[in-house]
Amino acid sequence: MASPNCIMFSFFIVLLWSSCSVLSNTTPEKFYQCICKNSDFSEPFSTAFFTPKDASFIPILKSTAQNLRCLMPSVPKPELIFTPKTEPHVQAAVICAKQLDIQLRVRSGGHDYEGLSYISEIGSPFVIADLSKLRGIEVNLKEESAWAQAGATIGEVYYRISEKSKTLGFPAGIYTSLGIGGHITGGAYGSMMRKFGLGVDNVMDARIVNSKGTILDRKSMGEDLFWAIRGGGGASFGIILGWKLKLVVVPSTVTVFNIPKTLEDGAMKILYKWQQVVDKIDDGLFMKVIIKVVDKKEVKGEKTVQTTYNALFLGSVDRLLQIMNESFPELGLTQQDCTEMSWIESIMYNAGYPKNTPPKILLQGKSMFKNYFKAKSDFVKKPIPETGLEGLWKRQLEEDSPLLLWNPYGGMMAKISESDTPFPHRKGVIFMIQYVALWHQPDKELATKHVDWIRRLYDYMTSYVSTSPREAYVNYRDLDLGMNKNGNSNFSFAQASEWGNKYFKNNFNRRTPDLGLLRYVEVGGASKLIKEVHAGTCGPHMNGFMLVKKILRSGYFWLTMESDCILYVQKFHQCQTHADMIRVPPNELHVTSSSWPFVAWGMDVISPIKLAASNGHSYPSNYWDTALQSEYPPVPRLTLVYGNEAVIPAEVEIPSLRIIQEAKLSDAEWIQSRFEQLAHIDGRRINAVCHGQLYQNRMAKAFNKKARPRHFTPG
Ligand SMILES: Cc1cc2nc3c(=O)[nH]c(=O)nc-3n(C[C@H](O)[C@H](O)[C@H](O)COP(=O)(O)OP(=O)(O)OC[C@H]3O[C@@H](n4cnc5c(N)ncnc54)[C@H](O)[C@@H]3O)c2cc1C
Repeated sequence: MASPNCIMFSFFIVLLWSSCSVLSNTTPEKFYQCICKNSDFSEPFSTAFFTPKDASFIPILKSTAQNLRCLMPSVPKPELIFTPKTEPHVQAAVICAKQLDIQLRVRSGGHDYEGLSYISEIGSPFVIADLSKLRGIEVNLKEESAWAQAGATIGEVYYRISEKSKTLGFPAGIYTSLGIGGHITGGAYGSMMRKFGLGVDNVMDARIVNSKGTILDRKSMGEDLFWAIRGGGGASFGIILGWKLKLVVVPSTVTVFNIPKTLEDGAMKILYKWQQVVDKIDDGLFMKVIIKVVDKKEVKGEKTVQTTYNALFLGSVDRLLQIMNESFPELGLTQQDCTEMSWIESIMYNAGYPKNTPPKILLQGKSMFKNYFKAKSDFVKKPIPETGLEGLWKRQLEEDSPLLLWNPYGGMMAKISESDTPFPHRKGVIFMIQYVALWHQPDKELATKHVDWIRRLYDYMTSYVSTSPREAYVNYRDLDLGMNKNGNSNFSFAQASEWGNKYFKNNFNRRTPDLGLLRYVEVGGASKLIKEVHAGTCGPHMNGFMLVKKILRSGYFWLTMESDCILYVQKFHQCQTHADMIRVPPNELHVTSSSWPFVAWGMDVISPIKLAASNGHSYPSNYWDTALQSEYPPVPRLTLVYGNEAVIPAEVEIPSLRIIQEAKLSDAEWIQSRFEQLAHIDGRRINAVCHGQLYQNRMAKAFNKKARPRHFTPG
């Protein structure tokens, strides 16, 4: 129902209509009226809606935006920022954006590397739904869980947990102003990931607004969508309202250290050793390396590379020293380098707060890092040799303020399967690299210079990092990997897989519970498939549910396939006219066996053969056999039935994954594999006869259950 304020506002618009009808029809006003109509919004426009004309527009736009590069004057700005205060307001925002055909951007903590939560290159006009007012957190000690609304920062979540318990924590980001809404959608790694996995590995439930404006929880959204939102990337599947987090048990005392080593201190050899041990060392130890360029201590005006080992150990200093002496004595860690503290203090330490800052400051949710930057990520699976490191130092020293962060993997990360969540970078990864180029002025030329530098560095690293695909972390979004092109809503699956495979590897294709892969199809492909499987060659006009199963079995998937299939069958004219046909069989089944169960004839359709005959002679068709025998290797004329799979015609047009797989075999390999199978032919024949007879019995039994004998007599 519309609230009094909205009615007043509409009344005001009506009054103004004759003099400024254009104004009263602007996007912000239409959006406001729509929100009033679709929710219980009951406050003045100015409390939750901000247009570029308002003085508070720029401060609100900048409030959580981390990457100042995305706020430069040339970057498109929204027509409106809406700050919902309740969940129904978010629902209304989705409904209204759809109704008014406006792009909706969602922002929780504003840390997107490419600013995608507050800029839009592809949609104009666009509106931001800024969830910063939805930041409630409820910790349930008994259940060892917490519900956190999307607008809360991860630092607030850590603080609220520590307020209630000194031995519970949550494994997510190191940087405390990250918004939990966007952070968890891409994975959320942090200092406890080697012990407990990522944030997404510890999510129990979620509340989401889908594209229809409906609120769903884990039960109502189903396990498919729940799987997808835990790592499938921000803004991909709906608006997250809140996450239910499974808390983990942390020791009451943990240990931290921070040890810098420059090239002059032997950084090269130490870092090389770090790469060999860091993914195998005790799971409770997370030892990242921060690599920067600093002034040389001894020589004024000269620069050097500094590697800083920054660590959290979930245990006492004594145990840590023991582990380090055994596995990584090269670092030379001593008791004086280490500090014991509580888990929440270690959060403050690793986030870079000055010593003795009270943890309560986390409730302010403020960021300590606002810069102009461009970043990229890589995953390393083999230690980078010293020659590779030398090239890296050389390039580091060319840049003003380069920053590299090397985060170790292994431990729990290697134990969780790649397909458990869409985040696929698990077993085999030694560490992840984050490359950052930073600058401090809103200057276009400066931006180009730094972006060029990071692209060159990324090219240089190609031979030292993961390949096929070169993996990337979706939370470190990098539009250089690809993006939807301006205004092109028909972007295809194949085009999107360019970056999709890098962020999600095989998870970009849908994985079935039995771990088979399904190919994702778009609208055009989906309707072709429905038509073909339902009524095309051999299509038996099955009902909607059966149709979905058939399509799944053929190796395809799209999100709305069930409702699409049911609707298609409901509207299919022939199915409706023949719906009342009596299908009950009038006779029992009489099974027969095929006399040649093992063979199928293969036929090749070939065009006239133009052999290079010296006299220019072309071969008529009755010469073909002779020509084939003399010029080509023998072609098998019989194809064995076993091992052959039925292929529906649509699978050739829209290749399913098994077709793509088989297409990679060369003809020679294919023929070889067929010949090899001949060796097993006798055993398989006997098996096939037994299977055939058992199957026929079962089939006849099932068929006869339905049979209702009907005898027709002359009338
Ligand atoms: C300084 C800094 C430090 C970082 N440290 C870490 C770290 O330690 N570990 C780590 O894993 N990552 C880290 N990141 C990356 C961070 O996890 C991602 O940028 C993440 O997307 C930030 O979420 P956000 O809500 O703060 O950002 P936003 O910019 O608000 O959102 C990011 C994306 O998610 C979408 N989104 C936002 N809210 C929602 C919602 N409620 N529902 C659906 N989609 C939504 C946005 O539209 C956008 O596409 C860091 C980033 C920065 C800038």
